[in-house]
Amino acid sequence: MKFATAYSVSLDDKVSIYDVRDLNFDESTGFDSDKDSFLCPNDACRAAFDSTNALSTFNAKNVNYQRTPHFKNKPGTRHIDGCRYAGSHKSATGESDDEREENFPSEFVLTRRLYEPKTPVVGNDASALQEPTKAPANRTTTSSGSNDTTPDKTSVFAHPVECYVSNIDDKDKLKAMPLKIGEHTATYWAFFKKIEYLQDNQGLIYWGKIKAIKDYTSSFRIDFEKKVWLDKRPYSVNVYLSKKLIENYRKRTAFLEQIKAAASSERPLYCFFYGVTPQLMQVPSKKNPEQTFGVFSARIENLDHLIIREAPGLES
Ligand SMILES: [Zn+2]
Repeated sequence: MKFATAYSVSLDDKVSIYDVRDLNFDESTGFDSDKDSFLCPNDACRAAFDSTNALSTFNAKNVNYQRTPHFKNKPGTRHIDGCRYAGSHKSATGESDDEREENFPSEFVLTRRLYEPKTPVVGNDASALQEPTKAPANRTTTSSGSNDTTPDKTSVFAHPVECYVSNIDDKDKLKAMPLKIGEHTATYWAFFKKIEYLQDNQGLIYWGKIKAIKDYTSSFRIDFEKKVWLDKRPYSVNVYLSKKLIENYRKRTAFLEQIKAAASSERPLYCFFYGVTPQLMQVPSKKNPEQTFGVFSARIENLDHLIIREAPGLES
């Protein structure tokens, strides 16, 4: 079975697999999920075993993935009677339950989740985890705290995007699941907007198939395949990513690896972004700088809110 959340020994908190991915790529932390242990999120169950009774991760470190990341039981993982995370480590239908994200966060939180600094654990002494340095008052609102239930909020953009992409064949579900971003509440279906319809509404998650990624001196430009129609005329759509922004990004290495691979990839790739809405602007023509032409364009302001990925099942 898949776990939406697990207890991280090194963070002394419950985290989603998307939190783990975010931390693995974050160069400002020393986090490495291979050196951590992830335990059953059920507090009573976890208390019954030592920290060797761990779960495994799936797609915790893969920059480019197709199948939904998750935690799962190892063949030897034990649970107490009545723990809802017990159950076979392989479902009756094989691995098919791995293929979609079933935990839909009801809110995408725009400020990043912060983790409490933790005193290093010496040896294998579990009591070190109970040091009084713990200050629950400092926990951010996105923390799942001591709650056993699946966290309802996320600050990792990849999570709502995975919900949308992996459930694209179930429109009824996407139309039923609520999503809140900032002050705006809608359904997943309504929040994800194809790039060609960006004029319909501001402040949505826009997505589209990538036509090309151009590598310029000071920026990357992502061109979308579909055009926006305005007054019966088609306009190209693109977003710019400043290289300075990438240089200062805490996930710089992973991001550069991803965008450079994407720029030369032959595979269909999609770009999802939130926070900016491309606007019609006039830019000088390359061939004839005296002339200008119209294009819908935006500058990405926060790389945490942009994703380039494969998305089988999405149409262009
Ligand atoms: Zn358990």
